[in-house]
Amino acid sequence: MTHVIDSKTESFLPVSQQSDFPIQNIPFGVGRWIDGKVVCLTRIGGTVINLSILEKNNLFSDCDLNENTFGKSSLNDFLTQNKSTWRSVRAAICNLYTKGNSKYEKNSKLRNLAEWNASEILMSLPVEIGDYTDFYASKEHATNVGSMFRDPKNALLPNWSHLPVGYHGRSSTIFSTPKEINRPNGQTKKPSEDFPVFGPSQKIDFELEVGFVTGNGPRNGDSISVELAEDSIFGLVLLNDWSARDIQQWEYVPLGPFLAKNFASCISPWIITLDAFEPFRSDRPIQNNPEPLPYLQQPLNRANFNIELQVGIRPEGSEETIICESNFKHMYWSIAQQLAHHSINGCIINAGDLMGSGTISGPSKGSYGSMLEISWNGKHPIKLPNGKTRSFIEDNDTIILRGSAIKDDLKIGFGECVSKIIPSKPWKRK
Ligand code: MN
Repeated sequence: MTHVIDSKTESFLPVSQQSDFPIQNIPFGVGRWIDGKVVCLTRIGGTVINLSILEKNNLFSDCDLNENTFGKSSLNDFLTQNKSTWRSVRAAICNLYTKGNSKYEKNSKLRNLAEWNASEILMSLPVEIGDYTDFYASKEHATNVGSMFRDPKNALLPNWSHLPVGYHGRSSTIFSTPKEINRPNGQTKKPSEDFPVFGPSQKIDFELEVGFVTGNGPRNGDSISVELAEDSIFGLVLLNDWSARDIQQWEYVPLGPFLAKNFASCISPWIITLDAFEPFRSDRPIQNNPEPLPYLQQPLNRANFNIELQVGIRPEGSEETIICESNFKHMYWSIAQQLAHHSINGCIINAGDLMGSGTISGPSKGSYGSMLEISWNGKHPIKLPNGKTRSFIEDNDTIILRGSAIKDDLKIGFGECVSKIIPSKPWKRK
């Protein structure tokens, strides 16, 4: 497969062994360049590369790109172009930066303009997200939540194993990271009380998710088939779908989550293409009890990705503690099945839509992807090295999501998705 960059390829740019961004990755992002312009970028090791400058210098002339694709403040224009264009750009970047391409390597005048140290570039949201959908596709997570709030014997509702359950979220409050988030205010009611109260949420939680970013789907009422779904998926990001469990528990009946979910969601700034994760394909869990309806059927072989995921918590002034180690391969419904289901009714999928996987929990206790599950809704608080305990997230706690796939000497990762909860804003009648 020519779109997978050989694991032996090396760049002339320095790449440390721990880096998530070897030349086999070539992610896409958006950030503020040193001249103040917000443009499209890629990255190799610790070097950020300005794609707009490469484009202006005709280095993508073989790629069949729309004019000025990368001088924009989002990747949406690029995403509207098709997968063969996405692939040709990635191949062109790889070709330029491969060790031995001495003509470009020695063009220090151009390279001085196009390259900068990653630590000095402020990244922003890579896409203007038109629509945001969040699925609930991890069986372990859905089982844990169902056991906690309903009945361990009937933890999964009857529809769950027949379709990828999801809800329409809100895109206006999705942020790139790092990001500080005010603890939300809202209405909550304890089961023991007769009436709700208003105030800062007492049960702020993270959700460890992987999101996928789409290209354009059909616009004539056709659906996207499972077989072709990945042609409409540009790449993956880490997603922390911040949640207020106490607000959620009171408000969610009967239409599902509302204000408990839309105060903030955070994504990692680099979109990693499916091609970069191709060497890390993994089988999806078997689906034979029940077998899905034909439009959702997909061979389980290589339907998922083996990406190790990790969550760390860092209270103010303390060291970080890892509180979850999970894996994207656990998803019961693959991303192709999610997208096929989403569009089966004629729903239009646009370039730049974001779809979350839902919390990714694994089968063992150390692999739960939310505090709700880790502390079992506060019944079993965890101990931190500073002597404090946590059932949910407290003010000035920083949550760090990481994800990377490793095989032999090749490591492909997302970088970090870092966000911090800060105190709520006081509500006052004006
Ligand atoms: Mn979620």
